[in-house]
Amino acid sequence: MADYSSSFYDHIAQTSDAPMGLEIEKADGCHIYTTDGRSFVDLISGIAVSSLGHRHPAVIAAIKQQLDNHLHVMVYGEFIQKPQSAFAQLLCDQLPDQLDRVYFVNSGTEANEGALKLAKKSTGRSKFVAFNNSYHGDTHGSLSVTGRDVYRDPYLPLLPDVTFLDFNDPNQLDQIDEDTAAVIMEPIQGEGGIIPANPDWLNAVRNRCDETGALLIFDEIQTGFFRTGSLFAFQHYGVVPDILCLAKAMGGGMPMGAFVSSSDRFEAFKHDPPLNHVTTFGGHPVSCAAAHANLKTLLNGDFAQKAFKIAEMACHMLRGEGITEVRGRGAMLGLQLRDADLTQHVVEYCFEKGLILGWTLHSNSLIRIAPPLIIGDQLLEECFQTILDGVKKHG
Ligand code: PMP
Repeated sequence: MADYSSSFYDHIAQTSDAPMGLEIEKADGCHIYTTDGRSFVDLISGIAVSSLGHRHPAVIAAIKQQLDNHLHVMVYGEFIQKPQSAFAQLLCDQLPDQLDRVYFVNSGTEANEGALKLAKKSTGRSKFVAFNNSYHGDTHGSLSVTGRDVYRDPYLPLLPDVTFLDFNDPNQLDQIDEDTAAVIMEPIQGEGGIIPANPDWLNAVRNRCDETGALLIFDEIQTGFFRTGSLFAFQHYGVVPDILCLAKAMGGGMPMGAFVSSSDRFEAFKHDPPLNHVTTFGGHPVSCAAAHANLKTLLNGDFAQKAFKIAEMACHMLRGEGITEVRGRGAMLGLQLRDADLTQHVVEYCFEKGLILGWTLHSNSLIRIAPPLIIGDQLLEECFQTILDGVKKHG
């Protein structure tokens, strides 16, 4: 049998000196199976992607059907493709009236790139306001509004006109001014450590944007599609953004991103220059078919309730010495441990026991938990017990 493991290490560009290196045979539901016969529970959903679990039958059926019709036919925006139009319609039906137009792209960072460009183009301004500890992606524009120097410094200079404020600090909002094209933020910071926005503060940000004519961009790439217990996190807060960025769980496991705004605002993308934001594969018909089936299935289930149940179980079970806090919203949870050493031991212990946990880019003492929303109570209890055992053993 060919050894694909050595090809991975010899020919795939590596992103660290220590990749997890599981050799995947198959993934189904909450489980990932490896070629050496092990099985793992995926308690992080491929980093907040597989909300319906891996290979949900409805998503697989939609993909197979689309494969029999057509694959790529033309760059985004030219041809009428049923999977794109049908999905855009269903998505807009769930959103407030002013979010009535979808621009499809391929990833989260590309969604944010498009949103920043749309904000510049439609306001004629170039300043952005972003937040310390934010994460918006790794292409140059998104990195420019990402609030962590360790990721930015090696790539300076980035976009010149970005002001960073402290998340949840009401005293800095006067820095959003008449030169500001947009404020970009995650309603619940993900990589920054699972930090929800304070509702009063978020309303104050919205008001300040309205006063100054700055647009409000919500990066819901991680919080979208019921992860936090409502279809989108902005619905918890009753604060509607001018541009909504989506990806990750959107495609049901297929690559997919979008930025959503109003028809009026998107007028700016029709000319000067022609096409404005070309994306060859944006809104790929197979991804759209998958995304449509994914959203239909999510809307027909009780996943909002399920996300809250997951939070409840986590808060109830994950207590004890070494665990200083469980925070987050719905099934987007962070388990704050005493220190980095304990965190590493617990993650390694769980991995040995067949449990995949997440980490965040900006913290080494936080375990991230984002289970598939289809997970059964018993399996979840077993996973939490494994985490507790790990904390006890190393605490
Ligand atoms: N924004 C947020 C809030 C994210 O969590 C991520 C990915 N972790 C991104 C943007 C970038 O998404 P992608 O990896 O699809 O480019």
